[in-house]
Amino acid sequence: MENVQTKTTVLVTGGTGFLGVHTVLQLLQQGYEVRTTLRSLTKKDSIIKALEEGGITDFSHLSFFEADLTSDNNWDQAVKGCDYVLHVASPFPAQDPKDENELIIPARDGALRVLKASRDAGVKRVVLTSSFAAVGYSINIENHIFTEKDWTDANTELPAYIKSKTVAEKSAWEFIEKEGNGLELSVINPVGIFGPALGGITSASLDIAVSGILNGNLDTTPPFTMGVVDVRDVADIHIKAMLHPDASGERFIATAEGVMSFYDVAELFKKERPQYTSDMKNLEPIGKEFYKEMSNEKAKSVLHWNPRSREEALLASADSVMKD
Ligand code: NAP
Repeated sequence: MENVQTKTTVLVTGGTGFLGVHTVLQLLQQGYEVRTTLRSLTKKDSIIKALEEGGITDFSHLSFFEADLTSDNNWDQAVKGCDYVLHVASPFPAQDPKDENELIIPARDGALRVLKASRDAGVKRVVLTSSFAAVGYSINIENHIFTEKDWTDANTELPAYIKSKTVAEKSAWEFIEKEGNGLELSVINPVGIFGPALGGITSASLDIAVSGILNGNLDTTPPFTMGVVDVRDVADIHIKAMLHPDASGERFIATAEGVMSFYDVAELFKKERPQYTSDMKNLEPIGKEFYKEMSNEKAKSVLHWNPRSREEALLASADSVMKD
């Protein structure tokens, strides 16, 4: 196949992660020259194994750079000659640490390091993976449908991860405004990311809401709902936001239609994958007052993004974590 993208170089930060490796996979499939950063080159083999599972056989268009969000080392090398940077890496532990700075510092300072290096290297656009965490945690109005205009207020009491994503995205926009010098920024705000784990690379979202439910680790339904989006669609929206002229300066909520409680997820598994549910606990439904809705209209209309359903995303996760 003749690839038109061969001379376009894209850096994806955090290729060892669940979303990072899917993003690298799609870029390679589309014929880009791809680079990825990882904290330690010893994890290179796990990326290669996952990409092989995704069907990649030719690795001549992929290169690896060792870089940590908490250090200046190597970021200039990683971005040198890149057309675009997709900044996906950020700490996402299953449990918040005692000290919120363990997440806030790498999230915020890492984003600023990537932006500065990109500006100095003449990169055209950075796409930052933020989160719905930076959108939907400060407004408590009944029946409010969250859009990109909404912001979580980082100056309130918040779980460390939610604060880290909010502070990082705010700092990124401030940097672009004051010091960007023409560098373009586009931001993706995904809800809970599901879909298939490649090469066994999962994320806290799968570990908690899929493995946690199926393994019976969860015995009560937490009083909240989540939007659901498939990792393949989140990778796709990053590439769309990288290319679309109207995406510069914009944030996009990435969600499939509707929201679910963990009870709804458990019911879906019982109905569609009963063979996986022998260890599952019986969860109780939660009241409609806990359902928090968000809109994907902007991503659909501006970027022509067309996500899979939440059911398809969750079942693909269940199939991939239960297959062994
Ligand atoms: P993940 O699998 O845990 O990936 C996180 C990535 O960040 C890993 O590659 C990790 O590298 C890297 N990282 C963490 N700390 C780092 C540091 N100090 N220096 C360099 N790299 C570091 O989680 P994911 O779900 O793919 O998350 C990817 C992005 O999506 C994150 O920005 C996350 O906040 C965002 N997001 C995720 C969800 C979700 O539901 N999964 C929802 C909304 C937004 P190591 O492998 O070395 O740890």
